[in-house]
Amino acid sequence: MSLTELTIADAASGLRARKFSAVELVRAHTDAIAALNPRLNAYITTTADEALKAAQQADDVLAKGEARALTGIPLGIKDLFCTNGVRTTAASNILKNFVPPYESTVTANLLRDGAVFVGKTNLDEFAMGSANITSAFGPVENPWKRNGDEAALVPGGSSGGSAAAVAAGLAMGATGTDTGGSIRQPAAYCGIVGLKPTYGRCSRFGTIAYASSLDQAGPMARSVRDCAIMLQSMAGFDERDSTSVNCDVPDYSAAIGRSLKGLKVGIPAEYRAEGLSAEIAAAWQQGIEWLKAAGCEIVDVSLPHTKYGLATYYIVAPAECSSNLARYDGLRFGERVPGDTLDAMYEATRRAGFGPEVRRRIMMGTYVLSAGYYDAYYLKAQKVRTLIRRDFTEAFGKVDVLLTPTAPTPAFAQGEQSDDPVQMYLNDIFTVPASMAGMPAMSVPVGLGATGLPLGLQLIGRPFDEETLLATGSALESAAGFTHRPAIRAEAAK
Ligand code: GLN
Repeated sequence: MSLTELTIADAASGLRARKFSAVELVRAHTDAIAALNPRLNAYITTTADEALKAAQQADDVLAKGEARALTGIPLGIKDLFCTNGVRTTAASNILKNFVPPYESTVTANLLRDGAVFVGKTNLDEFAMGSANITSAFGPVENPWKRNGDEAALVPGGSSGGSAAAVAAGLAMGATGTDTGGSIRQPAAYCGIVGLKPTYGRCSRFGTIAYASSLDQAGPMARSVRDCAIMLQSMAGFDERDSTSVNCDVPDYSAAIGRSLKGLKVGIPAEYRAEGLSAEIAAAWQQGIEWLKAAGCEIVDVSLPHTKYGLATYYIVAPAECSSNLARYDGLRFGERVPGDTLDAMYEATRRAGFGPEVRRRIMMGTYVLSAGYYDAYYLKAQKVRTLIRRDFTEAFGKVDVLLTPTAPTPAFAQGEQSDDPVQMYLNDIFTVPASMAGMPAMSVPVGLGATGLPLGLQLIGRPFDEETLLATGSALESAAGFTHRPAIRAEAAK
């Protein structure tokens, strides 16, 4: 098997057994990036030279028998995580030359455990989007194709570059961030596993902020076990993030393959929503059958405030974004366009620096926070958010985990849906509620639809119970036996 097709777990044991070196493993990935990134545009910045140096050091560590969990494993890093000395753009013109002088906590944790970073992955500008088409560095192409159709598809967003890179074999795993679905939806569109941990599980320190009360980092990889391995490294308390939660990080890999006998799985009625494609509804039913066969009890539940999820999310997230993005004023960070007065400089800088979607959100956010509208919109949305969270808390009084679709449709083509922002926001209908409630959630690929595209199912768990997600996800994964790979990938490009 080609080195770019291995899982992280298999690569880690292959490295220890001296079947191949870290340099060989990393070079296979940097070669794959050189061959395929011009087409997929999954990376904004590649760091092949630094990665090969780090791989040599990893081989020394392996030779001494001192390898850690991720020693020598090539990973992609979403270009929203600050990486010391490596350009970090948030896919925005306003940060196009920004080189952070420090490392985010999540990436520092991965480096501590020996990971080798092969580059910074593309995303929607400031993580705002669902199709990776708002990047100032151009769209990402999904490595999957519809049967008999050459149309370029979107990889989902905002972590579209991470998802495409992992699916195509340009990284063994990648970091993502998820504010309203940005790990789960691209994972579903690209046929990989993506886990959004509980809000507070991974530090937000050094991750460029979109909506601070929702943003959460998490792993994206080709297996549930690989997500467990990455999360083990990424998670943990950090005193530099005031919303980081100080509770133990359990042994996530131990949850893989755990018996599901007697586990209660809730099926929320509200997720049988309008616009749910028939093939995803069928995949959902199949998932229910698989979990029944694994010994789970299936329970119908109701999350009545789900219908307000999108409307409230698209008030809260823009409100926080308008406040977070006020710091890009041309003075302290990033690009500056000079002007005759200070105000003229601000205006010219922000007009040149931000793309249309980011500007739309700043305007919406500023509006809902403005005097006279604050109570009607922002405060109201926060109250509804409490009700959304209460729905989940009540459901988790009856069940241990929820099973739903991840997205209403499989990946769509570049250009489809993009002229109507509201249509684009509807992609997030199933992912946003768990984000509003802060619950952990994961997408697992469970099959291919009629056009040959991957379909994902979502599991939502109790706060800080990522283990049940991993246990249930691994059961779905083995029942589905999902081994399909996309048309465009490193192995096929040779
Ligand atoms: N698509 C959603 C948005 O545009 C979610 C993005 C995200 O999770 N970062 O806000």
